[in-house]
Amino acid sequence: MLKLSHINKVYHVGDTVTKAQNDVSVQFRQQEFVAILGPSGSGKTTMLNIIGGLDRYDSGDLLIKGKSTKNFKDSDWDAYRNNSVGFIFQSYNLISHLSIMENVEMGMTLSGVPAAKKWQMATEALVRVGLKDQIHKQPNQLSGGQMQRVAIARAIANNPEILLADEPTGALDSETSEEIMQLIRDLSKDRLVIMVTHNPDLAHQYADRIINFADGQIQDDSNAFEGEAAQDDFSLNNTKMSYWTAMKLSYTNIRTKKGRTFLTVFASSIGIIGIAVVLALSNGFQKQVDQTQSDALSTMPVTISQVSTDPSAMASNSSTKTKTAKGNTITAEKSDQDKAQHTNKITSQYLDYLNKMPKKDAKNIAISYGTGMNLIRQVDGKYKSVTFSNTDPDKAASGASAMMSSSGSGINGSVYPVDRNGKQSFLKTYYKVVAGSYPTKATDVVLVLNKDNSLNINALKNLGFNVKEGQKYNYKDLVGTTVKLVGNDDYYTKLPTGNFIPETDYSTMATKAATQTLTVKGIIRVKSSDSDGILASGVAYSANLTKKVLDANKNSAIVAAQKSSNNSVVTGQSMDKATRESTLATLGGTSEPTNIQIYPTKFKQKDKVLNYLDKYNKGKSTANKVVYTDLASTISTMTGGIMDAITYVLIAFAGISLVTSMIMIAIITYTSVLERTKEIGVLKALGARKKDITRVFDAETFILGFGAGVFGIFVAWLLTFPINAILANVTGLSGVAVLNPTQAIVLVIISTVLTMLGGHIPARMAAKKDAAIALRAE
Ligand code: ADP
Repeated sequence: MLKLSHINKVYHVGDTVTKAQNDVSVQFRQQEFVAILGPSGSGKTTMLNIIGGLDRYDSGDLLIKGKSTKNFKDSDWDAYRNNSVGFIFQSYNLISHLSIMENVEMGMTLSGVPAAKKWQMATEALVRVGLKDQIHKQPNQLSGGQMQRVAIARAIANNPEILLADEPTGALDSETSEEIMQLIRDLSKDRLVIMVTHNPDLAHQYADRIINFADGQIQDDSNAFEGEAAQDDFSLNNTKMSYWTAMKLSYTNIRTKKGRTFLTVFASSIGIIGIAVVLALSNGFQKQVDQTQSDALSTMPVTISQVSTDPSAMASNSSTKTKTAKGNTITAEKSDQDKAQHTNKITSQYLDYLNKMPKKDAKNIAISYGTGMNLIRQVDGKYKSVTFSNTDPDKAASGASAMMSSSGSGINGSVYPVDRNGKQSFLKTYYKVVAGSYPTKATDVVLVLNKDNSLNINALKNLGFNVKEGQKYNYKDLVGTTVKLVGNDDYYTKLPTGNFIPETDYSTMATKAATQTLTVKGIIRVKSSDSDGILASGVAYSANLTKKVLDANKNSAIVAAQKSSNNSVVTGQSMDKATRESTLATLGGTSEPTNIQIYPTKFKQKDKVLNYLDKYNKGKSTANKVVYTDLASTISTMTGGIMDAITYVLIAFAGISLVTSMIMIAIITYTSVLERTKEIGVLKALGARKKDITRVFDAETFILGFGAGVFGIFVAWLLTFPINAILANVTGLSGVAVLNPTQAIVLVIISTVLTMLGGHIPARMAAKKDAAIALRAE
């Protein structure tokens, strides 16, 4: 069965060389009970370990059923230990955190025997060793003799051909020893049993053959075997521990140390808690900052007016102040302000350029024109002329001259920008509908309320309402109000003199084909007081409506006449250049905008918008430059940067505690490795591979790391409540700390990975442990 041929084994410790096996040659039968006797330190255990594949010989050969093991790989030895050999030790070496059943099954678990078969074979083995009634106990509930029986059951559970026992009765009283010897003798009836013992009496009483050992050599052999071993077919099944088994081993081990495990998990989770809280706060603050910024921005768009102040011109002018008076002449000069005044040429080319601005940088661009609108409304059954103006009609100049002076926003109401993707996101962002609905068509207009639900009285007066200050309206009184928009050609009649006069037959106008109906679609109110005043209280309409009016009126007769005349075609009076231009604009004869407002999507995008606008001016003469005003420039661009910097610093600190906990886990795993040395030896004796051992400890750190991650996130989440309560108290901001689920998951993964990294090195150390040494450890 087994043949040792000239086996040598030397141990070097420092300068001392111990010849533990000195040219040992011996053969064993297929079935016999061999006792090995000899003084302590003579090399008995070393021989047993070499036979069992727990230790390697230096030279010679071990033949198993005639097959040489010289070229055995680690995996062959693992399989050999698992399939063919059962070990029994003096100190039983049961895995204390597993049940008796699980201990007995372990060898089969390692070789992947199905659960039902495992259970059946383990039960048979336990019955055979006389422990039928103890199956459901834990190892530490048994006596020494019973524990050794469990160990024997484990050794024979998958019917190995070889049973190796190293002083199996060394720790037992004589009565129990006899029982165990009896049991081993029974087991030797159908296998080879080799037992190392100190006790010559027991050896002589039970064994078939006695070998005396001294100084690493066989001194005598009572029943030597010289026959040739049968050249049996000898094959081995490889072992492999499943991840699940590794997990279970670790889990049951961890469970036996609840207090320590909790402290470990808690300490490791502190880093995660720190980072999670920092991230939660930073998420929340960023949101608040973004909100504040976009609120602030909504009231402070980048503005391009027809006439604006060129900041660069202001700067260069200031240099003149440094000049000192010379001579006695006086120079007539423009004021600095006048010099800095710049007339923007907002050409269609420029509008095209604006249109091409990336939509992600500026979602809304509001373009206002100086055009007026010819509006009439039916009041008490009679049509009368009305306006969208906010100026007091009782104080304004009356009649045609009022119409003529109507450039700018006063007479026009407010224009809100059309979202560049075609949706009304501007209104939806800043305003909520309190009655009716958001406008959808160009002919839909809205009434803008102040935060306190008040409405500019002049807007109502100009719409033809007979209204007194403090008067109350129901929403439904105003929603659905219609106003007719009349084209120039229907509104003005050309007199034989060549002048034009506004018609007064409004009811006829109302029925003209070109006349459009504008409807008050909804009443809106600003959502947040931050954005109060973007649109003035009163009537607001889409920039698309202005476009429509312009398109309808640009070819009207009055516009054509005004274009070719220097005098007013209405009053016949002469006009200066500026008045003529604004008159033409009011009539819809100019396509040049009076004002452009660009709303950057986010505060951070504003720089891109400004860069884009600057790019247009590059290489252009001063006169052709388009100058903008950036009202929001006072808001420091630093806010975002500072937030980021603070977050990084805090995360760095929390990260340090994460690394600290990783080192701690490494130490704890290392301690666990030391504690479980015996277990490692037993697992190896049962055929576990190095990989399997690594896996057991990796599984343990996985459980700890994952536990720490989940626990940390849970605690961080709990912490957000008091943190938010305190912040709400101190700053008035609510719901600042918000834990982002994605970040939470990532943190759990980081915790798991880092702890596994920290624990992996001790795990590898455990795997490398020599099985023979591991089993010798106390
Ligand atoms: P026995 O089982 O007969 O008591 P051992 O086989 O345990 O003897 O030991 C044989 C000799 O080898 C002893 O001198 C022992 O000190 C030495 N020895 C055993 N294992 C080691 C080891 N891992 N390193 C160094 N010396 C060892």
